Amino acid sequence: MHIVVCVKQVPDTKIIKINPKTNTLDRRSAPAILNPYDAHAVQEAVKIKKKTGGTVSVLSMGPPQATAVIKKSIEIGADQGFLITDRAFAGADTLATSYALSKALERISKEEPVDMVICGKHAIDGDTGQVGPGIARRLDVPPVTNVIEVTEVNEQEKTVVIKRKLTNGYELIQSQMPCLLTVEKEINDIEYSPMPNMIKAARYDPIIWAVSDLEDVDRSQLGLKGSPTIVGKMFTPPRPEGGKKLEGSADEQVNQLIEILLEKKDLFTLQSSK
Ligand SMILES: Cc1cc2nc3c(=O)[nH]c(=O)nc-3n(C[C@H](O)[C@H](O)[C@H](O)COP(=O)(O)OP(=O)(O)OC[C@H]3O[C@@H](n4cnc5c(N)ncnc54)[C@H](O)[C@@H]3O)c2cc1C
Repeated sequence: MHIVVCVKQVPDTKIIKINPKTNTLDRRSAPAILNPYDAHAVQEAVKIKKKTGGTVSVLSMGPPQATAVIKKSIEIGADQGFLITDRAFAGADTLATSYALSKALERISKEEPVDMVICGKHAIDGDTGQVGPGIARRLDVPPVTNVIEVTEVNEQEKTVVIKRKLTNGYELIQSQMPCLLTVEKEINDIEYSPMPNMIKAARYDPIIWAVSDLEDVDRSQLGLKGSPTIVGKMFTPPRPEGGKKLEGSADEQVNQLIEILLEKKDLFTLQSSK
């Protein structure tokens, strides 16, 4: 069983500041971290490997500093990590990102066939949730999104049973492998890393590939050139104005509320018998 987890380095959005003049993220204002959903994806891959045996690889596209998220993944229990880094990848939107990652996955698969790719549900900075399904489409494998449990893995039959989160509950589905999962945070709890993993991570050097290390790459589909997305405008949304607090007894408050609703009746097309 070979599982590859796609991991992205992101700024910690709990801390990051927005430059009020340019309205862009000030990436220097926050530390770079492993995308939290991807940490859960690595943890799940390690959990599956404990049952089935095999290899857990991680793959990232980013600048050279993104080796940090690969080391973090080794700490969680991944066996090896690949970083694709090249100026040609810079400025990639989700289309170009999924193209580059799928080319790297093809190369990894040549060395050891991949049974399952796991991505996070979304990256906390870009937040589109498009990269996982994009990779699945390019590799022509089934995408299974919003996964909250990997219930069963049958290596002989090459099938996997998965619990998916829906708006009003969940569904259990069976998929062929190879497949691609995108996982929710509730799929598992991140465990403390044992000391040997931490030592291994500290000494680990990821395998680094440039575009020239990948096969059959159409360079026009990479980076900014391969990115049709245009960011029209970036801005900090204005804070919504505070609501009105109603005072008095319950009856008085209900009467005040009716007055307010009647004033706004055009908005609500409210019919009143008052
Ligand atoms: C015109 C344009 C230029 C851009 N230029 C840059 C740039 O120069 N640098 C930059 O960082 N961003 C850039 N971005 C943002 C970039 O498009 C997204 O961050 C990136 O494509 C991933 O999309 P997302 O963050 O929405 O990921 P999502 O689709 O929300 O991520 C889902 C999952 O996909 C996987 N994944 C996503 N990205 C990666 C990755 N890089 N490596 C491994 N796994 C991944 C992870 O498992 C993640 O949990 C640019 C965007 C546009 C529109």
